[in-house]
Order: sequence, then structure tokens, then C-alpha cells
Amino acid sequence: MPDITKKVRVRFAPSPTGGLHLGGVRTVLFNYLFARKHGGDFILRIEDTDQSRYVEGAEQYILDCLAWCGLNPDEGPQNGGPYAPYRQSERKDNYRKYAEQLVHDGYAYYAFDTPAELDEQRQKFPNFRYGHENRDDLRNSLNLSQEETQALLEQEVPYVIRIKVPVDDTVHFYDMIRGDVSFDTNLVDDKVLLKADGMPTYHLAVVVDDYLMKISHAFRGEEWLPSAPVHILLWEYLGWKADMPHWVHLPLILKPDGNGKLSKRDGDRLGFPVYAMNWKDPKSEEITRGFREMGYLPEAFVNMLALLGWNDGTEQEIFSMEELIEKFSIERVSKAGAKFDFEKAKWFNHEYIKKNQVSGIKNQVLEILKAKDIHVQDNEYFDKVLETVKERMTFLQDFWDQASFFFEQPAVYDLNAVKPKWSDAKTEYFKELIKTWEGRKEWEALNLETVFKTLAEEKDLKPGELMLPFRVMLVGGKFGPGVFDIAVLLGKEETIQRIGKAIIAFTEE
Ligand code: GLU
Repeated sequence: MPDITKKVRVRFAPSPTGGLHLGGVRTVLFNYLFARKHGGDFILRIEDTDQSRYVEGAEQYILDCLAWCGLNPDEGPQNGGPYAPYRQSERKDNYRKYAEQLVHDGYAYYAFDTPAELDEQRQKFPNFRYGHENRDDLRNSLNLSQEETQALLEQEVPYVIRIKVPVDDTVHFYDMIRGDVSFDTNLVDDKVLLKADGMPTYHLAVVVDDYLMKISHAFRGEEWLPSAPVHILLWEYLGWKADMPHWVHLPLILKPDGNGKLSKRDGDRLGFPVYAMNWKDPKSEEITRGFREMGYLPEAFVNMLALLGWNDGTEQEIFSMEELIEKFSIERVSKAGAKFDFEKAKWFNHEYIKKNQVSGIKNQVLEILKAKDIHVQDNEYFDKVLETVKERMTFLQDFWDQASFFFEQPAVYDLNAVKPKWSDAKTEYFKELIKTWEGRKEWEALNLETVFKTLAEEKDLKPGELMLPFRVMLVGGKFGPGVFDIAVLLGKEETIQRIGKAIIAFTEE
């Protein structure tokens, strides 16, 4: 149970280095649901202290993804908040004093080793890790005299500040998904906290900011678990242990085939997106596909992600945002990784397209058509067509494949489906059908079907054998919604014209 004495404040803390993986969006979602459920705050904090990894446009892209998903933060670089700024690069001056305090208290030290010296160590020891095994032999304030260290600092010799991880100890912490977790400190290296350029590393910045921003629960991917002991030690060394957030390390999203974290490469290999939206690498200009551009509805995307590693204990799979907020609980997040299943992901989108009102999707469909240079009128007819075919669409892009025949006569027919069984009797039947329908005033599916079948019986033909050719006449192929519904939508004149035109095509040698 969350600590109810503390206001729920959660954060999504991405480093803006590229496209947003669906695992990242799921972290956003779980943060958001938890905050909403407990009347808390959801914060977006941009962790951009590693300037070598700065990627232009990546922050805006993250903001756009969150907006598309409807998971907008209460506080963040865009809308500000009481703990602004929310971009770590703009908080640079906050961190040094904590690093210095750690040095002062004996929990960290200055390390003056040059990159060349460290390279030399790596050459000598392929598994080199700066830590208790070798720190006494390296150039740092643990070995240098106070005067030597002071002199180096005054000469402005570049240095980093490293945490001094204790020897032969165990770091314990409680994770709300995993329970008790412990790490042998001998396996943890002395991570850099403050870099030579004065910027903090992720490890220092994440702890300082979670503290200063009064974060109550830290949700993040399981891949951050190995960093947790460093963070726990920092919480302790900085004297903030009582304010440490509850830890929630979320299970990985796994490849559909085999083990391991789902990567962008798996998506490319297996033909599905892994990013929320299209991401264009500003350097290579390479575009990585996203769910949004594939015609995924944001509600479906969010619902699908919620079920990757969480369920409410029943068989229910379709949840509105309100239901997710009401039902979400950390206790029901599984420890095991969740295999990503693209077929299932498609199913969610299909369900959402089906259950959406036409008004909820029509603008997006019209946009897609416009982009393909297909111009259809936005009118009542278009609405009816969309209403009829949305049941058959997995993606918004499928509209034209499913519905083009409503706007233009078939250019080709699936003759293989019709010709082998075509006969003069069928030609006669359809000619007669045209005559009968021409005289009709009302044009309604049930009546059309009755006339169609009665006439077949009169001619001693099986209605079942006439339906397929009729469909091909109207559609061009063997797909689409109910054939009489199609006829009703096309209208009398158009239907009759299509029958007439097709009879010629079917009887030609
Ligand atoms: N900046 C880290 C990231 O890119 C945040 C990890 C955390 O939430 O502690 O995911």
C-alpha cells in the first residue's frame, strides 16, 4: 500500500536521446494512472545532463507523444510548476553542492585520472571497473594527501567526483513489485557523480531531483535496477533516507520471439513499430515508424500498453481511461516480463475503431485520404460508408482498401471467382433483376434481399450462387460488408448501372 501520509508525486524522467519506445510510454501511463488514482501529481522531468547524447528535437517529440496519448503532466518543462525548472540542464547549479557535501562527509572523492590513464587501465584489465579493488592505486583524493588534492583543485586540473561504495556490505531495499531486493556492494563500481564539465551524471541528478521535487514513488523500467544500489546509497549518504521514494521497477517488454527486451531492431525485423510516433533522426534523417502514423488510435495504444504487464485480475481487456484509473494497482503489475504480441496489439486497435463513433475518427481518416491524394466529400454519404466499414478496419489506413468501391466503380473484377460458374440463366436473372428493381420506389436492404431471393426461386436458381457474383458486380472482389447494405448505400441508379456493366464483363469471352 502506498504511504498515504505522503502526497503522491510521481515522475517520468526521460533522457531525450531519440524516439520514445513503447516501454517508455507504458512507464508514463503507469505513473499517470497511479497519480490520478491517488489524487497526486504527475511530473515530467527532462534528464538531459549528458550533453554528448543531446539529440535535437527529442524533447519536443516526447512532449508530442504524451500529448497524443492524452497523458499530460501536471508539472513539466512546458507548463512549469512549483519545482521549476524541470529540465536538468537548467538545474546545473543545484547539484555540485551535494557532490561536495558527499566528499566532505567521506562518501565520495575527487578523481583526477585522465582519460588516457583510464584507457591504460582498461587495456591492462579488460574488466576494469573503478572501485574498491583498485581505487587505492588510482589518482584520487583517497590516496593523495590533502595538500596534493588542494593543489590540483587550485590548478584547475580536471576531475570528477565519484561515490565511494562500501566494501563487503549489502544494500537492501524494498521494491513494490519485486519485494526485497539486495545487492552485494563489492559488485558495484564507484560511479561518477559529477563530471569534469561540472554537470552531474544521471545517478546524482536523479536522486537530488527526486528529493527536491518530493517524489513519493519512482516508477522506471527494470533496466534501471542495477543502478538502484548507487541511488539507495546516495539517499542514505545525503541524509535523506526518510524521504526516499517507494521503488517500482516495471517488468521489461520482451521480444515476441525469444528472450530479451523488445528493441527497435526487433520491430524492423518483424515489421511493426516500437516507437509511439514516427521519429526522424536529425543526423541521419532516417525515419523510424510509430504507432500513430500506422493508424493506431491513442486510446487503443494506451489500453494495449496498460495490459503489458498489468491486469485487473479478470478477463477484461478493454478499459476506458476512467476504468484504468480506478482499477490500476501496483500489486497487480507482474514481475515477469511481458511478451509483445503485435497481433494482439492490432486487435485492440480494431476494437477501438469499431466502438468509436464515426465523428471520433472521421477527421483522421479524411486526413489520411488527403495525404494519399484521394479526395472524397465529407458528407452524410461518407459518414454512412465509414459507419459500415469501420468494423472491418484494423488501422485507419485500411479505410480506402475496404471502401474505395463506394466512391468509384470497380475497375477490375475478380473474374476467377465468377466466370467458371457463370451461365446464360444467370445473365437472364440479373437482367430481370434490373427490370424489377428499376420500378421500385423504396430502396432498403431487407426488401432488396426478398426480391432478390424470390426472383431466384422463380427462375429455379439458388440464391446462394447469385450472391457472390452480385457482390463482385458491386465491389469488384469477394470482400466487404453485407451485399444488400452495399446496394442500399450505393443507391438504386448506381447499383443497377454496376449490374449492367458487370454482366457484359462476365459474359465476354
Ligand atoms: N533518465 C532515465 C531514463 O532515461 C530515468 C530513469 C529513472 O527513472 O530513474 O530513463
